[in-house]
Amino acid sequence: MPEPAPVRVRFAPSPTGRFHIGGARTALYNYLLARQTGGSFVLRIEDTDQKRYDPTAQDEIMDSLRWLGLDWDEGPDIGGPFAPYKQSERLLIYHNLIEELIDRGSAYYCFCSPERLSQVRNEQQKQNLSPRYDGYCRSLSLQDARARAKDGESHVVRFKTPKEGKTTGIDLLRDPIIVDNINIDDYILLKSDGIPVYHMAAISDDHLMEITHVFRGSEWLPTFPLHVLIYEAFEWEQPQWIHLSVFLNPTGKGKLSKRTAMDPKSGVKSVYTLDLKELGYLHEAVNNWCALMGWSYDDHTEIFPMEDLIEKFSLDKLSSSPAAVNFSKLDHFNGIYIRELPSQELKRRILPFLQEAGYRVEDETLESIIPLIRERIHTLDEAVEMAGFFFQETIHPDPSLLIGKDMTASQSAFAAQRVYEVIEALPSMECDSLENELRNLADELNLKASQLFGILRIAVTGQSVSPPLIESMEVIGKSKVLERIQEAIALLSAQSDTK
Ligand code: GLU
Repeated sequence: MPEPAPVRVRFAPSPTGRFHIGGARTALYNYLLARQTGGSFVLRIEDTDQKRYDPTAQDEIMDSLRWLGLDWDEGPDIGGPFAPYKQSERLLIYHNLIEELIDRGSAYYCFCSPERLSQVRNEQQKQNLSPRYDGYCRSLSLQDARARAKDGESHVVRFKTPKEGKTTGIDLLRDPIIVDNINIDDYILLKSDGIPVYHMAAISDDHLMEITHVFRGSEWLPTFPLHVLIYEAFEWEQPQWIHLSVFLNPTGKGKLSKRTAMDPKSGVKSVYTLDLKELGYLHEAVNNWCALMGWSYDDHTEIFPMEDLIEKFSLDKLSSSPAAVNFSKLDHFNGIYIRELPSQELKRRILPFLQEAGYRVEDETLESIIPLIRERIHTLDEAVEMAGFFFQETIHPDPSLLIGKDMTASQSAFAAQRVYEVIEALPSMECDSLENELRNLADELNLKASQLFGILRIAVTGQSVSPPLIESMEVIGKSKVLERIQEAIALLSAQSDTK
């Protein structure tokens, strides 16, 4: 097979809100195709919608992409051969192109007032017609219109949609989309404030930036014919179009919406990429998870580290069916990637979670607990709950939990006292001998090992679920273990026997 030609692809988010997994998936597919073909991945910021502009959004977009490891080759921060990469800095380019479209007879000035437009709409509603511009300014003489515009009369520029014929949009994931031109509105290209709309700016940039493949959400399908018409009006060559499926709620019913975006009841922890980072997901797992919501390799392979995705990703395996967002799957992937991470790397990633929880973390301690918790956590933040006791000066166990199963408080206190003596007498906390000694002690006290270990687990870790107890005690060290047992004895002795 011949090597695929290097593509030029772009991820073109609007900085209008928080960065979510829909954006992450679109960016990922762009990135994969660029890396697979030795092409270029462009980041372009589409900030023409002033009303919805959110000044913090661009940073969040970039931070999210960086965290995911989806580095771009050209973009607003690093420049590139087609700079600038922020649409608000390209207004002159769009104005010139709009002038060209007007000269080509494919766009026109429209001076209709909002009042007139709303009257037209009301009329159309009454007659059950779909609302659209009635073409009132379509046939103004260009000379007059230009003069009025120059004199400062408020106006927009509209696309002059042909009245006849059909427009065909070719999307790689769908049958050709064919629309009668008579059903396509004369869309506004330039607003009265001199800012172009998405359709004009995005199409111009995709052409000028020599984009070969456009991945975008299927919410753009309704205006896809307009985009094709703009290409045709300029006689530009179209890119390959790929409209990606929407995400559904975990139930598979209904589009994933802002309302359900962080609703644990509906099984959605958060759809925002940086929240997933905070929740302790690995970017490897998030990429793998996103990749499979709209693409598959075969009907069974699920684990795709980035290098596999780059190698195996293919456009013909993309699906146009909506994908339900499934967090259990993400947890599953995350557990797998956590187990695969080299210890030093896992240590580096867990550290900020423990620090965030307020622990002073000694490197050596963290190093020794990695093997004890690696198999037991699904997300990095679970390390705090699972292993916080290693870093606490004192733990405060629930006194009632210290009482051994089927035992009284004083029996438990006595057993804990004997454990104290046995450990104190031990030359070291080496696991094998510690375990032997404690098992012997359980026999001597006529207890099951599980009864004795149950008391000890709560005494030393404060938790009924913990990493392996004996190994944990070795890490904590003899003096601290003895202190904790002493505290447990005091708590037990202060309780009356109510068995
Ligand atoms: N700025 C558009 C959005 O955020 C991008 C659509 C496109 O990629 O063309 O939805």
